[in-house]
Amino acid sequence: MFRNQYNSSMTESKTNVFIHCPELEQYPYPDACPFKTSRAGKVRAMLDSMGLLTGADKAEVAPAAATERELLRFHDKDYLAAMRRANAGDFEMEMLHMSLGTGDCPVFAGMYDYATLAAGATITGAKLIADGSATIAFNPSGGYHHAFSDRAGGFCYLNDVVMGCETLIEAGKRVLFLDIDVHHCDGVQAAFYERADVMTISTHQDGRTLFPGTGFIDEIGKGEGKGYAVNVPLPIGTYDDIYLKAFRAVVLPLIHAYEPDVLVLEAGADTLAGDPLAGFTMTNNVFVEVVNSLLMFGKPILATGGGG
Ligand SMILES: [Zn+2]
Repeated sequence: MFRNQYNSSMTESKTNVFIHCPELEQYPYPDACPFKTSRAGKVRAMLDSMGLLTGADKAEVAPAAATERELLRFHDKDYLAAMRRANAGDFEMEMLHMSLGTGDCPVFAGMYDYATLAAGATITGAKLIADGSATIAFNPSGGYHHAFSDRAGGFCYLNDVVMGCETLIEAGKRVLFLDIDVHHCDGVQAAFYERADVMTISTHQDGRTLFPGTGFIDEIGKGEGKGYAVNVPLPIGTYDDIYLKAFRAVVLPLIHAYEPDVLVLEAGADTLAGDPLAGFTMTNNVFVEVVNSLLMFGKPILATGGGG
């Protein structure tokens, strides 16, 4: 059977695409940082061992790094310049104003190369969905939802999901961004807070008990965006039944009402029981139910990894 491994030329008209390349594993965060970019390769190996990367309707695609134009759609010019200087691994004191050089967002060699390639992977998926060559695209090296236009945060340097949404909007798509990571998607919410062309929905652990300390129910958007930011904070200890009750009551009706052309999903797995950085106690059964529920809408899905 033909195998489209790491080949960016698509042969099928409607395909489920896994976006990855070995270069994404060349720039690990420093050992002291709990965030491990090697997860993406492990995800790929697991999917491959289960036979989920082969078949007529599946393809593997290597990402293109995000271009300057794509980065500037969201990120501030001075912040990008600081990121490029930091790429050599040299820390400058003023970088702290952009949250670069902190415990969560250390300065390390290759950090800009990694971040632009990881962000480019989500943008690559968005382009494949926008031109109709993919129905589902998954970038396990994505979901950097804490990055703001001018600063890093929570292991995130460049906000790939914002740029993925922007790519879809530029192609005329109506976008709904759903974030099921245990942390609130503060960077994504801020990007679209005054806009109605992207609805953002986040389910997460209550911000009074977890980073980044935002995502309360009264954060609903502003101006034209009023009503298009939705937050579902849940308590420490949230387990499958509680989560799914909230998901069915709030998230699914909103997706029906908004009628998006494309769903963008940040599928952080740090809601699972035992995650060392958070307090939910969920099992992976929730992911099965959430993904199956989203597939029922029959819309293209751009999915990314996230925390965990
Ligand atoms: Zn997270």
